[in-house]
Amino acid sequence: MTDITVIGSNMIDLITYTEKMPLEGETIEAPEFEMGFGGKGSNQAVAAARLGSKVSMITMVGNDSFGKEHLANYQDNNIDVTGVGIGTKSSGTAPIFVSQDSSNRILIIKGANNELTPTILDTHLDTIKQSKLIVLQQEIPLETNYHAIELGEKLGIPVLLNPAPASEHLDLEHVRKVDFFMPNETELATLTGLPTESLDEITLAAKSLVEQGVKHVIVTLGSRGVLWINKDNDMVIPSEKVHAIDTTGAGDAFIGAFSHYLTQGEDIPEALKHANHYAGISVTNRGTQKSYPTLAEI
Ligand code: ADP
Repeated sequence: MTDITVIGSNMIDLITYTEKMPLEGETIEAPEFEMGFGGKGSNQAVAAARLGSKVSMITMVGNDSFGKEHLANYQDNNIDVTGVGIGTKSSGTAPIFVSQDSSNRILIIKGANNELTPTILDTHLDTIKQSKLIVLQQEIPLETNYHAIELGEKLGIPVLLNPAPASEHLDLEHVRKVDFFMPNETELATLTGLPTESLDEITLAAKSLVEQGVKHVIVTLGSRGVLWINKDNDMVIPSEKVHAIDTTGAGDAFIGAFSHYLTQGEDIPEALKHANHYAGISVTNRGTQKSYPTLAEI
């Protein structure tokens, strides 16, 4: 059985901590390097699985050592890997350069993630059919997400779309069919073309999507928590007061945890409150998946 099917990306973060960035043609030494599992889809799957959900991951890794490490990482986190395929391109990677002042420069090479086609989804219908929720982000081809949204509609399975990273190409015709649309402020502004500086503006932009058919718009607001809008509700569920040291991957922790609590039968405000708690813990530790607690740890 599967509670949640995550259809999305995997990436290996290659993080170099450096005192300065090399100039063109220059070779310099950097003091520290770290590797980490990432990719928004994988992060969300890991968060939900660490809380105890039965998660199936549909993704494409490369035919390389990173691909093998991803498979092992899913298995270590009790994630079903029936839907993990091996592509012809390299595994997705993200070389990240962090300078002394904490500013960063990031390159994303999607690699095999771009090989996750709509046709591949059809080969995993048995898995998808069993799930209570389909979870999507935007690091795989858009047409695959559109196909997943259509499958959810056809099979009567709720779909959660986290439109990250923001894309101007996302088409409202498909967005209006999702049950849970979960952007941050920037992603909400990109889709609606509306300002999202103040809470009032964010509320108006979110309401415009509900008017166009989205059932629930849930906007993550960083340290302020989360805004939930549907036909009948308009409420902010505040985040926990914590000493944040690294918010990388907080949005993914939040979405994974929300998916878990929702599919465990909690109502939306309760699931949002618990997801705030989970993401709040993740920001008190360094790293992405490394910072996601297990059920026992919370
Ligand atoms: P994203 O990384 O997608 O922009 P946010 O920054 O909105 O996501 O954070 C997602 C969630 O993580 C928030 O809704 C909140 O629950 C939690 N969170 C993020 N930053 C903090 C913080 N400084 N203190 C407490 N919780 C936080």
